[in-house]
Amino acid sequence: MPEVFLASRNAKKLAEMQRILGEAVPGLTVLGLDDVPPYDEPVEDAPDFVGNALLKARAGFAVSGLPTLADDSGLCVDALNGMPGVLSARWSGPPKDDDRNNRLLLDQLQDVPDERRGAEFRCSVALVYRGTSGEVVEEAVAGVMRGRVIRDLRGTGGFGYDVLFIPDDQDGELTSAEISPAEKDLISHRGRSLRAIAPVISAALGGGSSGSRP
Ligand code: IMP
Repeated sequence: MPEVFLASRNAKKLAEMQRILGEAVPGLTVLGLDDVPPYDEPVEDAPDFVGNALLKARAGFAVSGLPTLADDSGLCVDALNGMPGVLSARWSGPPKDDDRNNRLLLDQLQDVPDERRGAEFRCSVALVYRGTSGEVVEEAVAGVMRGRVIRDLRGTGGFGYDVLFIPDDQDGELTSAEISPAEKDLISHRGRSLRAIAPVISAALGGGSSGSRP
């Protein structure tokens, strides 16, 4: 059974990634942090999503020897010049707290009129694996979900900033915390980037490069 190691500690994000990958790469076994030897995850200090995704995938590959997938994602708000961006998870400071982040963002956008509340979620996914000639191969793709930030928190699904984000790519006026998981996967930055990397995963695993389990 082909295996890929998914290097993420964010349980809700992990659940989304496993769900999307399950559909995009049938038969794939997705391993988590509990399936590999414990290791210190790298500090996410790259200036962009792709840099951080690569940092995480390289660290996971170094420990597991398995094809390793990692993502980095966040919300980029037009009126804040693309912030919180790579700082999304810790926008209101440590410890990471979705509710505190949401309230800070609402405060910061309080005086921003409706027509200037555009924003987008971005996600970069990186895959690091050993190629057929023994070389380490790195691939990265990106996905975007465009929408806008509303003025109150709505919905109970998803995670993070979903409760205050209305995606453009839908008929109604629901936040990404109000649509079904399947609907979110279809239009989300994470769904788009994972479906883009799916053929690369299939090719990497099909090429006999699945590495060795620890
Ligand atoms: P990461 O774990 O460093 O990639 O941080 C991602 C952070 O961006 C999360 O903690 C959320 O704050 C935000 N984020 C990324 N994707 C989503 C999403 O699909 N919905 C809501 N918030 C998200």
